[in-house]
Amino acid sequence: MNRKNSEYLYEKAKTLIPGGVNSPVRAFKSVNDTPFYVKRAEDAFLIDEDGNRYLDYVMSWGAIILGHAHMGVLEEVRQAILSGTTFGACHRYEIELAERIREAFPSIEMVRLTSSGTEATMSAIRLARGYTSKENIIKFKGCYHGHVDALLVKAGSGLATFGIPDSKGIISDYASHTHIADFNHIESVYRIIENDKNIACVIVEPIMGNMGVILPDMPFLKQLEALCKENNIILIFDEVITGFRVTYGGAQHLFGIKPDITCLGKIIGGGFPIGAFGGRADIMNNLAPIGDVYQAGTLSGNPVAVRAGIYVLDYLKAHPSIYTEMDDFLTILEKEVINLAHIHKIPYKINKITGMWTGFFTDKDIRNYEDASKSDKFMYERFFKLMLHEGIFFAPSPFEASFLSLKHKGDELNHTLKSFDRVFRDLKRS
Ligand SMILES: *Cc1c(COP(=O)(O)O)cnc(C)c1O
Repeated sequence: MNRKNSEYLYEKAKTLIPGGVNSPVRAFKSVNDTPFYVKRAEDAFLIDEDGNRYLDYVMSWGAIILGHAHMGVLEEVRQAILSGTTFGACHRYEIELAERIREAFPSIEMVRLTSSGTEATMSAIRLARGYTSKENIIKFKGCYHGHVDALLVKAGSGLATFGIPDSKGIISDYASHTHIADFNHIESVYRIIENDKNIACVIVEPIMGNMGVILPDMPFLKQLEALCKENNIILIFDEVITGFRVTYGGAQHLFGIKPDITCLGKIIGGGFPIGAFGGRADIMNNLAPIGDVYQAGTLSGNPVAVRAGIYVLDYLKAHPSIYTEMDDFLTILEKEVINLAHIHKIPYKINKITGMWTGFFTDKDIRNYEDASKSDKFMYERFFKLMLHEGIFFAPSPFEASFLSLKHKGDELNHTLKSFDRVFRDLKRS
């Protein structure tokens, strides 16, 4: 596979952009590779600067669900930009998107738009703190909520539940207001709450998507909801990935849970930068200009992103079969790939839910951060490179989800299964 143009561009990028990239995972470092440069994208494919074509399972990290360069979205965007690209003033489409979000998520009475998921989670936490007049927060090991200071926190040593910064540049005092709990382990949350009466909120990805896909045990989220309610703690569901992906109303609809605040992003921008956070009106009305919790954004509610998002949501609503088609795709994929793994004697587990899945190189079930981190990273690195040669782009890190779109159909499935057969065989050989 010729990647000359990409290599040239990457070398040049490194002299101008730190690490050559505008978001670290794009550098392919965790798979010891160098990135390809995308020239264009169509349907379920990316085409790079050397003309290589990749079946895309990253789909802009889940932001794209109708496929790349979807004609309907493009036409809507064309119409939108002819009327101007940003106003810094009110327009009717922000109301229309809010209406659709509220209708899809019964827990959301009011919603505010931002320009990224990071802004949404950051603002949701500030709001929870403002509303409860409490200071500390709980997050779960392995959940990612954007690069917010208070959330880029990892577990400290020993029995301490307060976290330590997971990045330089975050002051330890800030991280020390964040407790770290274990996903699928309600006792770990209970213990923190018992010892700290200053908890404003718990933030969780109801289905983990940032340590690979990890599903919640059935009682876990229900117990979390009850625990928060009893202790006057705001429950924040980070559905930036799962909202409109696992079903139209997100993970909370699947599991029958009503979080106090929900964060959205990715899909709701139709491929443009966006985020949103919403919840009960009595909480949301604490935001400025009504309340005392300040939050703002020059491009918040950007008309192009909003109109692209409305188009995508309307399309999903009108075509609910997308969700069953993605389910069918993954049912076959799991069955066939696990069968191939047995044949080639590769330890491999698949976690999946509608529209997203992760294959882990391990023979153990993956239920939390520790399980996932024990899967074979070196095996994944070889898998990633072999798949790229097969013309398939999986996430350049073992701990990410793979995403489907409307355009992942039978041909793409067959291509994928044939490649799994060859790649598993090569993995066994090398
Ligand atoms: C992507 C993501 C975010 C951050 O969104 P950005 O738009 O990248 O800032 C937050 N939470 C989850 C669960 C995400 O997957």
